[in-house]
Amino acid sequence: MCDDGRVSETTNTDLDSCSPPPADGWVALTPAGRAVARAVGHDPAGTLLASDVDGTLSPIVADPTRAAVSERARRALAGLDGRVGTLAVITGRPVARAREMVDVDRRGGLDHLVMLGLYGVERYDVGTGQLQVPEPPAVMGQARHRLQEAVDRAVAADPAMAGTMVEDKGSAVVLHTRRAVEHDRALALLGPVARDLAGELGLAVEEGRDVVELKAWQTTKGDALRRLIAERMPSVLLMCGDDLGDLPAMAVVEEWIGEGRPGARVVSWSAEQPRVARSADVLCDGPEGVAAFLDEISGRITESSTM
Ligand SMILES: [Mg+2]
Repeated sequence: MCDDGRVSETTNTDLDSCSPPPADGWVALTPAGRAVARAVGHDPAGTLLASDVDGTLSPIVADPTRAAVSERARRALAGLDGRVGTLAVITGRPVARAREMVDVDRRGGLDHLVMLGLYGVERYDVGTGQLQVPEPPAVMGQARHRLQEAVDRAVAADPAMAGTMVEDKGSAVVLHTRRAVEHDRALALLGPVARDLAGELGLAVEEGRDVVELKAWQTTKGDALRRLIAERMPSVLLMCGDDLGDLPAMAVVEEWIGEGRPGARVVSWSAEQPRVARSADVLCDGPEGVAAFLDEISGRITESSTM
């Protein structure tokens, strides 16, 4: 039993939903999770499968500028491209960076992918080449400048803050403490500074693993997923994610399942973010486990089409 009191309904292993899934594999924890692959096999054209990128398709690395989708995860995504009705990534990254991470411009195989960046503020459709990127509001320049100043002051006063970074995403500015010498202390000191700055400048705050993000728009991944659902009208809905920023999209899927429709919240398990694992219908061992689950879905589509 989890500490939130939910009894897991695992049948294929004796793990409960708070334990890690099998190495490089996945485990279905709920009736919805156990039924979803078959539902996709029955109606691939009616399936909408959306996924986060960092920590879900790409391993978490110390330097966020070096993160990239793993070969295995890319292959698994390509195995679904053009076979499910809608294949999408929904990320907090700018769409330009997501295109590099998924490597859609130099390599083929993901020709139907819909890419939603900055929590849905930006969009790129690989198939049509259509790009929607709104101009960042002027206040973002001020946010970036003042956050960088605060970081520089903190590093000058305390060498243990060294390695803290400010990332400019255009319509968002991000404080990254993962590479700080003492990253917990850096987050404890600079996190409140970032939140106060957001309050003063009227920006939204998004928190994740060793990051505090100040956003020009309030949009969440839940809003992005709802818009895509309204556009594509799917019958089966899956969302893959690993971090707090994915929870609003997971809540959309939970509501969907609650209405008796097939779907699943697919979680890339992380020891750093056990709270997200508690919402899983399918729990995967990091990006490798997510790739293994996507392969399972592909296999079900192949099986159904050859029957
Ligand atoms: Mg993530």
